[in-house]
Amino acid sequence: MQCKCCRNEVNYEQGVCPVCGFLLLGANNMPAEAVAQHKKQVLDKVTLAVKLYTYEIEDEEVKNIQENWKQVGTASVLDFEKIYWLDCGFEEIVSAESFTVTVRMSQNGTEKEQQFTFRPGKDFCRANVGLKLADGFRLQVAAGTPENSLCSDAVNMIQG
Ligand SMILES: [Zn+2]
Repeated sequence: MQCKCCRNEVNYEQGVCPVCGFLLLGANNMPAEAVAQHKKQVLDKVTLAVKLYTYEIEDEEVKNIQENWKQVGTASVLDFEKIYWLDCGFEEIVSAESFTVTVRMSQNGTEKEQQFTFRPGKDFCRANVGLKLADGFRLQVAAGTPENSLCSDAVNMIQG
């Protein structure tokens, strides 16, 4: 069966979901609000930030490259199968052969950084960055536009 909360494949006899701690016994009679509340509680413990690059072009040369973090907030803003688009200025960088998005995940005072590299190809002339929730409370990074996007592999967000 699938955990109603994180959608991980679980064995009913385990009693609670090994990924998110959701009670599996009686889960079928659980009201939707209780599922939503547990989901929010788990994801509220993870804070996300995305590293952005900004730069200026002077005399056709890239100058003044700066890095800074864009705070996303807690992971409870994310949803399954729906990309949460960030307002990131990756529009010009995608003319490069590949570009990398770094996501920082913080939970209980520990931080983990994960890099996602995209090879967009020539047709990809604009790119925004978005985040998406995958089964088991994993994270996927999307790049592109709502009409045409690439999605990364899913990585674990929740530390067990
Ligand atoms: Zn679960």
